[in-house]
Amino acid sequence: MTEPAYRGRLAPTPTGRLHLGHALTFRAAHERCRQAGGTLVMRNEDLDLARCRPEYFDAALADLRWLGMDWDEGPEMGGPHAPYRQSERTGCYRAAWERLRGSGLIYPCRCSRKDLQRAAQAPHEDGGEALYPGTCRPDAPGGLDPRDWPDEPGIDEVCWRFLVPDGKGVEFEDGGFGRQRFAAGRDFGDFVVWRRDGVSAYELAVVVDDAAMGISEVVRGADLLLSTARQILIYEALGLSRPLFFHTPLVRDGEGRRLAKRDRAASIGSLKEEGYSAGQVLAMARERTMLEA
Ligand code: GLU
Repeated sequence: MTEPAYRGRLAPTPTGRLHLGHALTFRAAHERCRQAGGTLVMRNEDLDLARCRPEYFDAALADLRWLGMDWDEGPEMGGPHAPYRQSERTGCYRAAWERLRGSGLIYPCRCSRKDLQRAAQAPHEDGGEALYPGTCRPDAPGGLDPRDWPDEPGIDEVCWRFLVPDGKGVEFEDGGFGRQRFAAGRDFGDFVVWRRDGVSAYELAVVVDDAAMGISEVVRGADLLLSTARQILIYEALGLSRPLFFHTPLVRDGEGRRLAKRDRAASIGSLKEEGYSAGQVLAMARERTMLEA
C-alpha cells in the first residue's frame, strides 16, 4: 500500500507580527513537508475579524518568505480547498456545529465571565484557566432543556460547549514530544466550540479545516498540546480521522521567559530591520528554545 501523500499547513493568526516562536514552528512545518515531498497549505486564521488585521497577514507572508519558506495552496494562489481564509468558511463550521448539536455532544451555556470567575476552582495547568464547573450541563440544574436549545449558534446570549466525557483518557503519539496522555475533565473541562459573539471557536474551526483540507500532519507550538487533546475529542465526535501531530518547543525571550505576542523585540520584522539575516533569526529561535513544554 502506498503511504497517503503528506499535506501540511502554515496557519498564522493575524493579530500581530510573527515572533521567534512562530519562526521555529513554521520552519519545522515547512521542513517536514518539503522533506516528505508533500504539499503545504497556507491558511489565514482570521476567525476573529474584530481582532485580526489584513496588514498582519500580509506581513506574516512577507516574514515567512524572507525566512525562505514557500507554500503551494493559499489565499493568494488558491487551490482545491479554497477559500483559505477562516472568515470565509463559516458555513463549514456551522455544518459541524449542527452535527454536534444533533448528537448531543455540545450544549448551550449561559454563564457569564463573572459567573465563571465566581465558580472558579483552583487554577489549573491549562494556562491558569479554571475547569468549567458544569453549571449549564444538560443534566445540571442550570442546564437548558434540549427542547429549548437555540437552533442557531451565536444567538440568545449563549456560547456552546463540548460535553467532555469526564475521566476519559486522550492519548496521542507526538512527533516531537513522544507519547502524550491527558484526562478529559481533569486536564481540561467543557470547552467552547462556538462563542457567544457568533464566531466559531478556534478548536472547532481548526479541526473542520484540517480535516477538509486533508492535512496529514499538524505542526504547532507546544503551547497547544492541550488544545490538541481537546481537538481529538472533536475529531472523534465528528467521525473524522485525525492527522498526526508534531509539537515544537516554545521559545524564551531574552530574560528566559516564555515569549508573548506583544514582545516586539522578538518580532521577526524588527529583527529584520535591525539587520539580522534570516539564518541568524532562525539560529536565535533555536537557541532560545525551552526544553520543557
Ligand atoms: N493559528 C494558530 C496560531 O497562530 C495556530 C493554530 C494551530 O496550529 O492549530 O497560534
